[in-house]
Amino acid sequence: WAKTAGKGRWALFDSERNERELTRYALSSAMPDALDRGEFCLDYQPLVSLSDGSLLGVEALVRWRHPKLGVLRPDRFIGLAEETGMIVRLGGWVLAEACRQARRWIDLSPQAPFVSVNLAVRQVRGPGLVDEVTTILERYSLPPDRLQLEITESAMMNSADESVHNLRSLADLGVRIAIDDFGTGYSNLAYLRSLPVCELKVAGSFVEGLRAPAADPASITDERILATLVSLAHTLDLTVTAEGVETAAQADRLRAIGCDAAQGWHFGQPNPASHVDALL
Ligand code: C2E
Ligand code: MG
Ligand code: MG
Ligand code: MG
Repeated sequence: WAKTAGKGRWALFDSERNERELTRYALSSAMPDALDRGEFCLDYQPLVSLSDGSLLGVEALVRWRHPKLGVLRPDRFIGLAEETGMIVRLGGWVLAEACRQARRWIDLSPQAPFVSVNLAVRQVRGPGLVDEVTTILERYSLPPDRLQLEITESAMMNSADESVHNLRSLADLGVRIAIDDFGTGYSNLAYLRSLPVCELKVAGSFVEGLRAPAADPASITDERILATLVSLAHTLDLTVTAEGVETAAQADRLRAIGCDAAQGWHFGQPNPASHVDALL
């Protein structure tokens, strides 16, 4: 009986796995045409100053409006795009589209936010990145400090010399460089000091601890870790943005420890560009 049950289970796992593989395959092979057909779009999520509540920037987050599967979040396809190399073309589109919007916002308002764009490892390492960014900034006459590039901590730590060279050239242009999901990898602040970074985005997992009642011991520990991180970052002239801020209480505690900016549902969901127009 056990054996049969075991066999049955294997059969189930196999077919589930096959289906997953098929979907992965179907998604990766559909991506190039999907990009040409305009199925990808960007949502923008506010980055807000904790000291005065002003809108500092917006992060561009890619979505795929798949004709059959509905709107797909990046976790479903960014990894695939990295594997196939498609990320270079997709990432190029994201960069151009975000800069086009940033230009529109400058034309709409003197308080226009900067746009923050996520870069995949392949893009940061690629030989074409600096030229690509330069060309796009020129195309939209976008001041370089209206563009921020986010690189995850783990990508940064694995980065080869070319990546560091690329980031330096971009920073020299005046583009802002941020470390995304800080705290989830193994980097240290001493190493970061040697990189042309201006901002740390602290991963939501750290901020989560601040949801518990302020008297909770675990929550107090998380708050102390964050406070230490913020003060070290400030010593290195880095600003700190907290990700995943979902409640007013979290925002208050982050403000109290001197965190500079925040992003999360409490301040705004990712939304189409027209929502940013309305904010301005
Ligand atoms: P990320 O850069 O850390 O982006 C923040 C993610 O947290 C977004 O998920 C956002 O919707 C979500 N989020 C925002 N506020 C809250 C909150 O208060 N609570 C919680 N629980 N989550 C919140 P999303 O849009 O699904 O993006 C996931 C990841 O996909 C991003 O993480 C980023 O690493 C990657 N990604 C998105 N767009 C691009 C892109 O254009 N290129 C590349 N290479 N990666 C991208
Ligand atoms: Mg990001
Ligand atoms: Mg992040
Ligand atoms: Mg992330």
